[in-house]
Amino acid sequence: MSTPIYLDYNATTPVDPRVMATMLPYFTEKFGNAASSAHRYGWEASAAVEKAREQLASLIGAQSPAELTFTSGATEANNLALKGALAASRIKNPHVITQQTEHDSVLGTCHFLERHGVEVTYLPVDAEGRVSSEILRSALTDRTALVSIMTANNEIGTIQDIPALAAVVHAESTALFHTDAVQAAGKLPLDVAISGVDLLSLSAHKLYGPKGVGALYVRKRRPPITLTPLIHGGGQERGLRSGTLAVPLIVGFGAAAEIAQSDLATDAARISALKSRFLTALQTQISGVHINGHPTASLPNTINLSFDDIDASALIALMPGLALSSGSACTSGTLGGSHVIQALGHARSSLRISLGRPTLDRDIDAALSLIVEAVHKHRSFV
Ligand code: PMP
Repeated sequence: MSTPIYLDYNATTPVDPRVMATMLPYFTEKFGNAASSAHRYGWEASAAVEKAREQLASLIGAQSPAELTFTSGATEANNLALKGALAASRIKNPHVITQQTEHDSVLGTCHFLERHGVEVTYLPVDAEGRVSSEILRSALTDRTALVSIMTANNEIGTIQDIPALAAVVHAESTALFHTDAVQAAGKLPLDVAISGVDLLSLSAHKLYGPKGVGALYVRKRRPPITLTPLIHGGGQERGLRSGTLAVPLIVGFGAAAEIAQSDLATDAARISALKSRFLTALQTQISGVHINGHPTASLPNTINLSFDDIDASALIALMPGLALSSGSACTSGTLGGSHVIQALGHARSSLRISLGRPTLDRDIDAALSLIVEAVHKHRSFV
């Protein structure tokens, strides 16, 4: 059987060969511990980590590289943002606001906080997946310690108006504003100075870097934010995240961030043209297709579809030539539909196609004909 066409780039991306080449020496001859300050091996590793921190700071417009802390991924970054901010908060009976369509690493952390006495409000979204500033404003209280709203959704690609939402939070409360920008990084321009976010989570493996490394941006100025660490030990990362730094992965993350920044505009233009072509052709070739998410405020690479009278997982089973997902990879093993699609007010199942840097015109053409054929076949069964 031939290799399936990979259309699941929101689940993970391959490591870019340029990133791989940059990482390799840090596994072998440049193997030093970044915390070893007494010799060249340590200095070399430490300098490489600091270069990566600068590359990430540049990608998101941070004022200082010191505002970035390396973690094991975005799951840890989200946990650190939420639990770390709540543990450091001086508010009595603190309150957290998030939205129903967040990634499980935010929702699961919120459920944990609830079990420890924190009140959490899960804001609803509209039929296109956006949360309104007015609904957010009315949920704020003088006990709200943190608001967490993702920049772009991993399943449906909907982009939130983060500058507007952060402005409401800062104008009406003392709460911190956190955003999970994992799916936005490398696909949309990010600038923490413009968006006004206080905390922002990133992951390397969604932007052609390695798995197992992420970062949390923590604003240091006006006023500086203090988080309580979750992991204690040798005091690495200014005491915020102990543990020997994963130097090769961090170096790869930095290289991937630099490439993402320089190629962003060309990648996004090419990929969004593929997406529009696919959607136009699909809608002319089959009836009863629904595009889930926002028609314009949407990631250039993400397509989420439902088909009248068709279960998405049954459809996927008819297309072994395509590697795509129903719902998100992290939850698709669980029973029940996607919590994101449910939050849009739909009971239907969905199929996610996410394009990436390696996706070619011919992949889109092949995907289109396989999907059209599978829909016809499925409809002829029933
Ligand atoms: N947030 C979002 C929006 C994601 O898509 C993912 C990955 N599925 C994560 C967080 C978790 O990232 P990581 O795999 O680095 O833990």
